[in-house]
Amino acid sequence: MTTTGSPTGHVGGRPLLNRRLDGLGTTIFAEMSALATATGSINLGQGFPDTDGPDSVREAAVRALREGKGNQYPPGPGVPELRTAIADHQRRFHGLTFDPDTEVLVTAGATEAIAAAMLALLEPGDEVIAFEPFYDSYAACIAMAGAARVPLTLRAPDFRPDLDALRDAVTPRTRLLLLNSPHNPTGMVLTPDELTAIAELACERDLLVVTDEVYEHLVFDGVHHPIAALPGMRERTVSISSAGKTFSFTGWKVGWVTASPALVAAVRTAKQYLTYVSAGPFQYAIAEALRLPDSYFDGFRADLRAKRDLLGDGLRAAGFEVYRPQGTYFITTDITPLGEKDAYAFCRALPERCGVVAVPNSVFYDDPDAGRSQVRFTFCKREDVLTQAVGRLRKAFGD
Ligand code: PMP
Ligand code: GLN
Repeated sequence: MTTTGSPTGHVGGRPLLNRRLDGLGTTIFAEMSALATATGSINLGQGFPDTDGPDSVREAAVRALREGKGNQYPPGPGVPELRTAIADHQRRFHGLTFDPDTEVLVTAGATEAIAAAMLALLEPGDEVIAFEPFYDSYAACIAMAGAARVPLTLRAPDFRPDLDALRDAVTPRTRLLLLNSPHNPTGMVLTPDELTAIAELACERDLLVVTDEVYEHLVFDGVHHPIAALPGMRERTVSISSAGKTFSFTGWKVGWVTASPALVAAVRTAKQYLTYVSAGPFQYAIAEALRLPDSYFDGFRADLRAKRDLLGDGLRAAGFEVYRPQGTYFITTDITPLGEKDAYAFCRALPERCGVVAVPNSVFYDDPDAGRSQVRFTFCKREDVLTQAVGRLRKAFGD
């Protein structure tokens, strides 16, 4: 993983930033969104929608604020209405039963859930195996816990995990498998067979699993299967999700953990000293969002499937190699057919060349060669914005 702008400076003859965070500068999302703002470009970099989620959910938040619900510290584990709604959601969509009082924890987005899980479950020196390219906060949180990341590289064009390599990567120091399916940035969705193999390995080697499923409702090809449902996994799995992606309110930062009482208690122990609580009124609104009818979830997915196809076709027409994502709202491309080699340099120059911002996947890899020429575009934008972006890219590279 590489980032730019690592803090510098010394006091007392020592660098200000501790060694664990060495090399973790500004996140690529912040860097590229700032570039989009500075250049007035279309931002297909950071994954946030340009249209807010349902009015009814926004109004529920306004109502909660007006009625004084959540304006003061909510309960540490989250408001009961939301915890119950999360448990009901897990039963409704995945057939999983969780006790809202002991097996659900509300967090400040999935980001805090990931951080709290790493800080709670890892000892310094433990190894964590995670798919590479990594979502950037994984590397940071593993580092903050003093643990070591061990990448399992997903390779183009399919980005399927090499299960033999995964087995070989497990050592006596391995404590935890950090999964992400649907996978950001590649759009890979683990199949039932892959999940079964991973679950069997976790049981055989007695490993914990932390699974980031924030794109659980954005699967276009295939179906999302939670690994927590597989035999032997219930007691060793921390499942993480978030309202940001599913309901298009990324700024509200409402996320959650579902797990066994012992695992929830462990994660909560760390979480209560990170934020203690967050997003009081928004918790009530998300409780309502989780109870939206199936038509909401189906419509959301259908809308993004059409946008995936629009952007994918456009990028292909502009000359990019396009890896069709099975899920998420990102498309990974390769810029080699454009005569380009370096994704980071390409993304730095793209706003000047055609007024579009994207994200270089290269920064999500430890292996510098594996993703050097990969660039990610998001399609969670209005159709007219995507059409305009495609027009600019085709003009610059294609036509
Ligand atoms: N995990 C993945 C894979 C993500 O793409 C994101 C970005 N939304 C997060 C976690 C963070 O989610 P949140 O905004 O809920 O903290
Ligand atoms: N998850 C978002 C993405 O991948 C970014 C969220 C963030 O900026 N931390 O684009």
